[in-house]
Amino acid sequence: MSIEYVLKRNAKKNINITIKDDGTVVVSAPKRVSIAEINRVIERKKEWIEKAKSKQSQKKIIHTDLDIRDGEKIYFLGELKTIKIIPSKATGIFIENDDICFEVKEKYLNNQDYLNTHFYYALKEKLTLILTEYMNMYLKVMNLDVNTMKLRNMRSRFGTCMPTKKEILFNTYLIHYPLESIEYVVLHEVSHLIHANHSAKFYNVIAKYMPDWKFRKNKLKEYSLQ
Ligand SMILES: [Zn+2]
Repeated sequence: MSIEYVLKRNAKKNINITIKDDGTVVVSAPKRVSIAEINRVIERKKEWIEKAKSKQSQKKIIHTDLDIRDGEKIYFLGELKTIKIIPSKATGIFIENDDICFEVKEKYLNNQDYLNTHFYYALKEKLTLILTEYMNMYLKVMNLDVNTMKLRNMRSRFGTCMPTKKEILFNTYLIHYPLESIEYVVLHEVSHLIHANHSAKFYNVIAKYMPDWKFRKNKLKEYSLQ
């Protein structure tokens, strides 16, 4: 059986094969390389591609634009929870065993837009609390400071740091990942205030404060944003 792939032509020297989060095989190849040649490379790497695809399919899927409904499942701090909508006087979320309980005023119960907006808003609030606590903790022990911390929906990064502006940005979707991995992302971005690169020195700083950082970093890879 041949492998289906998406072909991208570029100016680079080599043929490059990547597997996207949804399992799509993307081949980027220089313009001068023929399709026959590309197919030969694919055939040679077939085993590796199949393996990478199956690994991808075992990932825990984080849906980023879920319609918030009773019984729907969602990852919260790395664990799959069932959404339970509770009519209430207040609005907010709390965890009860395997449920993520969403309190909503009666008049909004059938308003899907309201449910979506306010559920994600409540998640963002929870994440802000978590991030702020870790940020303050590491800034203190490392004797550093930042001017701003922001949250943004991002597809391919967990965070970014602009050391010159002392500005740190975190991915809003981090709330779906395990707490220990969120802590790693915080330390990672804070450490960029010392080293604005991914050098060995940079990772030495991280290791000093978090000896098991690799384990926490790898846990992020168990999930896939879709
Ligand atoms: Zn980095």
